[in-house]
Amino acid sequence: MTLPPPAASAEPPAAWPVRNPRSGEVDYQFIPADSDTVHQTAAALREGQTGWLALGLEGRIAILRQWQEVLRASRADLHTTLFADTGRMRETGIELDAIPRLIDGWCRQAAALLQPEPARASSSVPFIQVEMTQDPWPLVGVISPWNFPLLLSLIDAVPALLAGAAVLVKPSEVTPRFVEPLRKTLQAVPALAGVLGIVQGAGPTGADLIQAVDAICFTGSVATGRKVAAAAAARFIPAFLELGGKDPALVLEGADLDLASSAILSGSISNAGQACQALERIYVARPVFDAFVSLLVQKAERIRLSWPDPAVGELGPIIFDRQADILTAHLQDAVAKGARILTGGRIERHGGGHWCRPTVLVDVDHSMQVMTEESFGPLLPVMPFDSLEQAVRLANDSEYGLSATVFAGGSAATLAEARAVAGQLQVGAVSINDAALTSFVHDAEKNSRKLSGLGGSRMGPVGLTRFLRRKALLINATGRPSPWWMAGPA
Ligand code: NAD
Repeated sequence: MTLPPPAASAEPPAAWPVRNPRSGEVDYQFIPADSDTVHQTAAALREGQTGWLALGLEGRIAILRQWQEVLRASRADLHTTLFADTGRMRETGIELDAIPRLIDGWCRQAAALLQPEPARASSSVPFIQVEMTQDPWPLVGVISPWNFPLLLSLIDAVPALLAGAAVLVKPSEVTPRFVEPLRKTLQAVPALAGVLGIVQGAGPTGADLIQAVDAICFTGSVATGRKVAAAAAARFIPAFLELGGKDPALVLEGADLDLASSAILSGSISNAGQACQALERIYVARPVFDAFVSLLVQKAERIRLSWPDPAVGELGPIIFDRQADILTAHLQDAVAKGARILTGGRIERHGGGHWCRPTVLVDVDHSMQVMTEESFGPLLPVMPFDSLEQAVRLANDSEYGLSATVFAGGSAATLAEARAVAGQLQVGAVSINDAALTSFVHDAEKNSRKLSGLGGSRMGPVGLTRFLRRKALLINATGRPSPWWMAGPA
């Protein structure tokens, strides 16, 4: 089925046409939720939230566990649609495997995180007792991007639900096919369907959602993040922003180059580079630069496109067609300014899809977009450094500050060097002697720096506790007047 492009009017189109990343065909459509639908859905979820909170943590865990079983039984349908949305098979499996781990991990931690605190005497006024209570934001909104459509729609929703909030999710309009089977899993668990809602649509639906919720979790680009932050600020609601990155990898002189080149390649091209924590610039100590680049090129050339058989090969298509234009622009800009492409280097068309092989570039510098702007593709520009100070300076010369990778030797001394370098990097997390670990290790809190994000981390214990508002009960338990009263009892 081929549908016309969206109408160029201010009104949202009746049906939103969706492109298939492997065929290039528009073969799916959905009706975006209008403003009334968003507000009605939000109102229904708010009603459901009171009972959800009253269930207590054990009750909420029991329902999420039930859902986990339904999700497991629905894996085939979710897989089919998520694969159609993204065109990649390997990462679709990884994404689906992450969901039970997500639910399981938070269900196991929630009781400890929601423990009531013992009452205590005030430290400044000892006859006043202090009791801390907490209650969730009633309705949390989630707006998610297209690169991991299912995982990033649920990654904040699950801890928010356990905290006792209701959640309204708006997934990306670029990858909407998985929503239908996901909705079916919710219908199979009515107690959850009352507090976890989904509205579909593009930017205007997201903007409506921000008007209807009490806190917003946004994952997406810096450009949209700015709009989300401004809309949330105008309503005085918290915004948890997980935005773009331009993660550096630093290869120190003592690093095991075989390990480093394999890990960094993998950290750069996983999901065809369409990951916020993808390694997008590589700095290598000059004495080992040539050896590293040679290994990187050899290994990059062994990577196969998952075309025509999606089950064979490592690299899927570019999911969103506009991303192909960005990659082309970054490559053209780099070459025009003197970069050399050692392997890969252009967007290929197979079927109707866009594909990009791992592309290693040298003779790059920070005048080039490929070193400064988020590429969101499998581009690996490599640049030498002459001192650790220079390496740190180059790594920090970015408006992004998501995460980073440092490869050093395995000895205590070289690890100490890696730690010292990591300590100077202006990012929220550093993987040492491995690459882009934040995609798999979610139990360490991280605060993105600069334009990469704002608000409490989705990782670590605060990933759940950020959905709770604290309330202090200050109790005069003496039965006597306080000394500062203006008048005593009659
Ligand atoms: P995007 O900003 O274009 O869209 C993200 C979401 O925002 C979509 O659901 C979109 O419909 C919605 N949206 C658009 N305009 C809106 C508005 N005015 N108000 C509210 N919502 C609106 O991002 P994308 O292209 O879908 O995703 C790619 C970006 O996401 C990259 O920059 C990537 O680095 C980032 N990302 C970050 C993380 C992280 O954890 N930091 C994870 C994955 C992706």
